[in-house]
Amino acid sequence: MTGAVNTFGRARRIAAIEVSEILRIGALAAQRRREGRPVIVLGAGEPDFETPDHIKEAAIRAIRTGQTHYTVLDGTGELKVAIQGKFRRENGIQYALDEITAGAGAKQVMYNAFMATLDPGDEVILAAPYWTSYADMVVIAGGQPVVVPCTEANGFRLQAPDLEAAITPRTRWLLLNSPSNPSGAAYGEQQLRPILDVLRRHPHVWLLSDDIYEHLLYDGAAFVTAAQLEPELKERTLTVNGVSKSYAMTGWRLGYGAGPKALIAAMAVVQSQSTSNPCSISQAAAVAALNGPQDLVAQWRDVFQRRRDFVVERLNAIEGISCRRPEGAFYTFASCAGLIGRRTATGAVIDSDSAFCRYLLESHDVAVVPGSCFGLGPYFRISYAASDADLRQACERIAAACSSLA
Ligand code: PMP
Repeated sequence: MTGAVNTFGRARRIAAIEVSEILRIGALAAQRRREGRPVIVLGAGEPDFETPDHIKEAAIRAIRTGQTHYTVLDGTGELKVAIQGKFRRENGIQYALDEITAGAGAKQVMYNAFMATLDPGDEVILAAPYWTSYADMVVIAGGQPVVVPCTEANGFRLQAPDLEAAITPRTRWLLLNSPSNPSGAAYGEQQLRPILDVLRRHPHVWLLSDDIYEHLLYDGAAFVTAAQLEPELKERTLTVNGVSKSYAMTGWRLGYGAGPKALIAAMAVVQSQSTSNPCSISQAAAVAALNGPQDLVAQWRDVFQRRRDFVVERLNAIEGISCRRPEGAFYTFASCAGLIGRRTATGAVIDSDSAFCRYLLESHDVAVVPGSCFGLGPYFRISYAASDADLRQACERIAAACSSLA
């Protein structure tokens, strides 16, 4: 038996990829809960609301009417028409049906895109802090992530000269995510234009626009996406979105993308030999989500905005922590630079954001994620997709944890 364990070797493709730190923290938090500790977990990347009833009913109807078979590989005709309508209505972008694809989450859609386009050594530019999965997906697909750090002073947004400097002949994609996980930063038209100007000068670089948090944008800001602003760039842009965050449907696994026909066809090849179609029932539910009433989306946005304001205010009242007010998504990305070098009651030195987050969990039962997991420290990410009571209590515990550092 030992031999079998010893002879197991990971493929080189995934040798350097570990189970994400976020999942590790989640597992540790769950373990402490089982031990009876009152842990508050602010790590989740999903709305704490229920999928609306009209969407659930559409899924139940789909089951009852026998929509339980394989469907067209990358989405039923009905779903593609609903996605087409969404892009026209909400973003003012016209896509033909063969420019649209659906998969098991926005994540699969992006994975398909990288698998379909990256040859060994091809580069994908990521603006840090970035959603960890991007880098790992690029590596699995044989590509090379090129990380461009963004500063808090620039609102954690990629700056045009930094993008220009990062582009090489091997650059295949630039990945933009607005509003962003983990920083909550969003690009308005004014901030997006200079980025798109750079891309126009480099026709070999494609743009993947991850718009999954589109509907979680606060203070009345208008959402903009590249394909809508620059018709010329639409020819080399993959716009990715999904129902997970907008309709509280993370478990249904349904995301979609739109882009040039040849790219969409290549992505279908990847999906055809991996998962085939996304779940037929989830597709029916997504049609109901996209075509149905949208009032809950706005109500949830208002709830999230209120929670954001609460968390930002509480964090900024803590000596040693400073927190920029994010424009969207449901995360704050606060700096703990002011705490680095301090000591815990047991004499341990807080020498990094990871050490700070470990301390918060182990001594004050709050689980948050270190910024270094997203390529930028010393910060920590809070997901405020949690109840008001949990957020209040968590902020009190973080304040207590910080004030007991020496
Ligand atoms: N993009 C970002 C930035 C995300 O945070 C997430 C979910 N954590 C996804 C994409 C994936 O969404 P889906 O559930 O549609 O796969």
